[in-house]
Amino acid sequence: MPDASSKLPVAVVGGGLAGLAAAWKLKSLGVPAVGFEASARLGGLIQTERWEDSVYEHGPDGFLLRRPQAKELCDALGVPLQPLSPLPQNIYIASRRGIFPLPKGLGLLVPTDWLSFFTSPLLSPLGRLRLALEPWLGKRPPTSSVTDESLASFIRRRFGREAYETLAEPLLGGVWNTDPEILSLRASFPHYADLEQSAGSVLRGLGRSQALPVEGGGLASPVGGMGTLIEALEQACGGIWQTRARVRSIQKLPQGFWLDLGSGQGSAVRGVLLALPPRAASELVQDLSNRAGSLLSDIPSGGIGTLSMTLRAEDFYRPLDAWGVLFTKSSGSLIDGFQWSSSKWGHRSGADRVVVRAFFGGFKNPGFLDADNVVDAALEALRPWLKASARPLHTAIRRWQTAFPQIKVGHLERLGEVEALLPPEISLAGQGYRGVGMPAVIASAFLAAQKWAAI
Ligand SMILES: Cc1cc2nc3c(=O)[nH]c(=O)nc-3n(C[C@H](O)[C@H](O)[C@H](O)COP(=O)(O)OP(=O)(O)OC[C@H]3O[C@@H](n4cnc5c(N)ncnc54)[C@H](O)[C@@H]3O)c2cc1C
Repeated sequence: MPDASSKLPVAVVGGGLAGLAAAWKLKSLGVPAVGFEASARLGGLIQTERWEDSVYEHGPDGFLLRRPQAKELCDALGVPLQPLSPLPQNIYIASRRGIFPLPKGLGLLVPTDWLSFFTSPLLSPLGRLRLALEPWLGKRPPTSSVTDESLASFIRRRFGREAYETLAEPLLGGVWNTDPEILSLRASFPHYADLEQSAGSVLRGLGRSQALPVEGGGLASPVGGMGTLIEALEQACGGIWQTRARVRSIQKLPQGFWLDLGSGQGSAVRGVLLALPPRAASELVQDLSNRAGSLLSDIPSGGIGTLSMTLRAEDFYRPLDAWGVLFTKSSGSLIDGFQWSSSKWGHRSGADRVVVRAFFGGFKNPGFLDADNVVDAALEALRPWLKASARPLHTAIRRWQTAFPQIKVGHLERLGEVEALLPPEISLAGQGYRGVGMPAVIASAFLAAQKWAAI
């Protein structure tokens, strides 16, 4: 016989992509749900702004197609997608050696076109040789005490210091916006660790499996920007969301749970899907498991800022012929990188105009997040392309103080312990647990929602 709590709805806490996707999935499974979002708007880190014909993304601007979840969600909601523009799909790296395009066929870190790799000046001749020696290094003996290491330590060990500083730090660290010196290899790029153990070498293992982790071409975005996905999700959820509704604590009831919304308000629910960054989730699970709360509070979130600018096309004396440029720490730049948004997506700037987006205040230079000279620093960093006299027609700045959970060495063990400690009716979804990026976030939300179909 079902208990009285089975008549109660399931609560989704947090109205970012994870919470919205989970609520949509619950609805499509026929599970009654209510949603609570602390801020005044839904979407969390996803925010699209428009100025005249310019489209500015303050959060994600595209998702990988290699993992199908985001595309499938857009298709199910009838959100039309646009592919990347057909311009050269490449990126520049600016380091102390200069500004060079990534050599052709360099998927993240792994060369597939050795001629292009060896003739590119991006790494010094010694740096290139050191990377190419990787298959001859032999593997680190597996020990029971060392199950994880930092991405930086792994890349330096296998590919050398220069490959780490010039390639891994901007490209791989940038994906997680976490300093690779603390980023968990097992949680971020586990296939590298697996290949070392199974094939004795990452390059040899990839060559054998042909499973090259090529980033690149396979990105898409909703036509008109990411905000249209949020609007479609909100509409499809059908009025279940309350905004300006911060959940303050969760208490166990004899049947179900009580969500405290402050000022004497609250809601009795059957279970809770926490679609929140780990630190925010830690406060809510504290009363259910003190230990789970303190483990989650050990996963802080780092900040990142975005500056979108509309500029006149005539103010550039070199074409923006790539997706953008990433600056290594060694370059000394105050800006972490640029996306050349209108080159990357096309049709997002209006005639004779260009939209670029600068990232700043990330793990390379966190102190710059609150700086007031961001526009000047961005124009200075764009100098190799932009005339000295150029000023933007319009700018929009967004400073995310807590954007990217810092996935530290030992993350998966920490998370496994948290999940074992929480009651089965409380689940976690979103970035910061098992993956970063929209497809992984949607996958985690669907997994958490699907549990309720079986209960
Ligand atoms: C600048 C930037 C660029 C990015 N680029 C890409 C990209 O190109 N491609 C890609 O795939 N991913 C990208 N990402 C990552 C992507 O945005 C995230 O993976 C995804 O949006 C995370 O969604 P989420 O729901 O897990 O978290 P969030 O969006 O952080 O949502 C959490 C929500 O919970 C709410 N909340 C917090 N506490 C409470 C509480 N107590 N009660 C109620 N509500 C609460 C918050 O207000 C927030 O709305 C980018 C992120 C940033 C910041």
